[in-house]
Amino acid sequence: MADPLTGGCMCGKYRYAASGASNAQLICHCESCRRHTGAPVVAFAGFAKDQVQWSPTDPPRFASSPKVGRAFCESCGTPMTWEGDGLVELLLGTLDDPDCFVPAFHIHHGEHLPWIDTADRLPRYRVWEDDPEGPYLNAPARLSADQQIALVERYFAAVDGEDLQGVLETLSDGCVFTVETHGVILTGRDEIAAMFRRLWSNHRSVRHHDFRFVPDPAGNRISVQFKVENTETDGSLTRKSNCNFFDFDGPVFSHIAVYMAGPNTLDKPT
Ligand SMILES: [Zn+2]
Ligand SMILES: [Zn+2]
Repeated sequence: MADPLTGGCMCGKYRYAASGASNAQLICHCESCRRHTGAPVVAFAGFAKDQVQWSPTDPPRFASSPKVGRAFCESCGTPMTWEGDGLVELLLGTLDDPDCFVPAFHIHHGEHLPWIDTADRLPRYRVWEDDPEGPYLNAPARLSADQQIALVERYFAAVDGEDLQGVLETLSDGCVFTVETHGVILTGRDEIAAMFRRLWSNHRSVRHHDFRFVPDPAGNRISVQFKVENTETDGSLTRKSNCNFFDFDGPVFSHIAVYMAGPNTLDKPT
C-alpha cells in the first residue's frame, strides 16, 4: 500500500497525504454522513490528525455538530472528511486508490436506509464499535463452553508436545501473551514463538496437567487452573500451580494471561 496515501477533491484544489497506518476502516450509515455527502452510505479510513497533511492549504470545514468538522471543497463541492476526537476519517471515495482498503465493520447501522444492504458479512454495530451489546448483526462466531475447553486442551497438548505450529494455530495474528505476575508482555505470534522456543530449549520437558476449567462463553473467555511439571536439563523437577485466562477472537485466542506463583519459568525475551 502506498505510504503516504493520497487523495483530494474532484477539481484538485485540495489534496491530502496520510502517512503511516490507518487505525480503522469502516462504513458509516449515520444520517449526518448521509446529509454531508448526499450518498446513502459512506466508507472511511481513519487516521490521527497529525498523520494527515493538506496541500496547498487546509480546506474549509463544516461544523456538523459542536466538536465535529467535515472538510469540503468550496469550488467543486466534494466532501472529504469527518474530523473529531483528534481523528481525521478520510472518505474512501476521495482516495486516489480507493481499492487499497476494505472496510472491517459498519457503524450507525441502526440508521441505515432500509433499501440498501451490502453483500459483505461484516459486523454491523447499531451505533459504534464500543456498543456494549457488540455487533447486533454478523457478530463473529463465539465458541461454546465445550469448544473453549477443547481449544485450551489443544493448546497445552501442543505446548507439551513442543509443536510450535500447533501452538500458533490456536493464536490470532495479533495475539497478546502476558505473564501478569511478572510484568511480561509479548505481542504477536513471532514474540510468542520465540518465548516457547526458549522455554523448550531451557527444559528437558514441560507438562501441564490437573486442569480445572471455568468456561465463560457469554464473556468470550475461559479461566483455567492447572499444575505444571517441568523437567530441568539436569533431570530435576520443578512443580508449579498456575492460572491462565484466555480471551477469544472467533475460533482462536486473542490474549493469554498467565498468573504464576514463584519465579517466572516462562522467561522474558532478551
Ligand atoms: Zn475541489
Ligand atoms: Zn456517519
